[in-house]
Amino acid sequence: MTGKTILIVEDDGIIATRLQGILSRSGYITPAPIASGEKAMAAITTALPDLVLMDIQLAGEMNGLIAAKEIRAHFDLPIIYLTAYSQPAQVQQAKVTSPYGYLVKPVAERELLATLEIALHRHGLDRALKESKEQLALALWGANLGMWDWDVPANLITCNGSWAELTGCQPARLTYHDWEQHIHPRDVSAVRDALQAHLDRRTSFWESEYRLRHKDDEGWIWLLLRGKVTQHDERGQPRRACGILMNISERKAMEENLRRLAITDPLTGAFNRRYLLQMMETEISRTQRHARPLSLIMFDIDHFKQINDHFGHDRGDAVLKNIAALVRERLRHTDIFARWGGEEFMILAPETALPQALALTETIRAGLRHSPVAPPVTASFGVAEYRADDTVDQWLKRVDDLVYQVKRDGRDHISYRP
Ligand code: GH3
Ligand code: MG
Ligand code: MG
Repeated sequence: MTGKTILIVEDDGIIATRLQGILSRSGYITPAPIASGEKAMAAITTALPDLVLMDIQLAGEMNGLIAAKEIRAHFDLPIIYLTAYSQPAQVQQAKVTSPYGYLVKPVAERELLATLEIALHRHGLDRALKESKEQLALALWGANLGMWDWDVPANLITCNGSWAELTGCQPARLTYHDWEQHIHPRDVSAVRDALQAHLDRRTSFWESEYRLRHKDDEGWIWLLLRGKVTQHDERGQPRRACGILMNISERKAMEENLRRLAITDPLTGAFNRRYLLQMMETEISRTQRHARPLSLIMFDIDHFKQINDHFGHDRGDAVLKNIAALVRERLRHTDIFARWGGEEFMILAPETALPQALALTETIRAGLRHSPVAPPVTASFGVAEYRADDTVDQWLKRVDDLVYQVKRDGRDHISYRP
């Protein structure tokens, strides 16, 4: 007993009764046969069968082909034609309605039953496939993921809707080269290296984080790509690779924000002591490799305690901020400006020998002197060029000693030692 319901749409009463007999003997449920397309639609809307056995020549205006088209448009219902027509034109028209079979009358009982059984089975598989596609689409949508599928020999990447939405890359089918055109120039080689490592089977999957040009605002979005080769050809060459894409711009922005917070002084926006020390190490090793000059400037605000005492701590804070802004205006983008402590600052100046460092220091000192910011302040400066084999501590001590010497000698001066 199959228990499946088959609706017979057949205008010839004798044939319809014969079919009903065959089907019910084989365990199918068969409602009263329908003679016209119009009535078939009504019957299906009232009680959905599992399959429709459809004649093409019918009573009424609608023939079986039109009725089938209507049914397929509204219901996920398999249709098998059972008709006296077998001209190619008819078959072509029937094909458009994606039938699950096309039987020509008169049909043998065994052939009819076999066709029905296979159609019902295939429809079950189609439905399962459709459901799993829906689940996948929903999962991708829920996780905010895009999907890509790369036919490697044909060099064609197909992307699903949300991928195209994410990146604005149109069309949704493109070559690897097209796709690479959208990648940030600074990320291209890392992406390629990661891909090559996977293609050479040095890694079990391909993962890259990179920036891609966004469609609307011409800006960059950060993407996480993860994927792998899923099929190889007989020579072991990759045939198909697929994977996902995820927009990680928010995470990247947060990371960047955290990184910035971790290396800056919140009051003045200058780098903090930790970052300066790290950059001193970096710049020292660069200097040692390439024998380039490198200088360090340290300054300490004079009598700053008095400013706090006279004008209050908030005003003191504002003065520190103004000084930082004033200094920043006079620096090159390669100079690293840091707050060393309370009212002590440092400038690490790469590619800068002592005379240039002194000139820079002089402009800062003059800037302080002529600053419209009240109350006026002065500072004591020490300038020291890096000497081969200085350790960070030795170099720091030299510059600190110079500042101390200025303090001792009356402040508001620059001290240096060649
Ligand atoms: P000197 O010329 O010898 O450097 O004198 P000074 O008063 O500047 O030096 P001292 O080290 O005696 O005092 C530094 C003062 O800087 C004391 C401290 O309260 C103040 N200070 C440090 N950090 C901050 C800050 O973030 N905000 C404010 N308003 N004051 C600060
Ligand atoms: Mg001090
Ligand atoms: Mg001071």
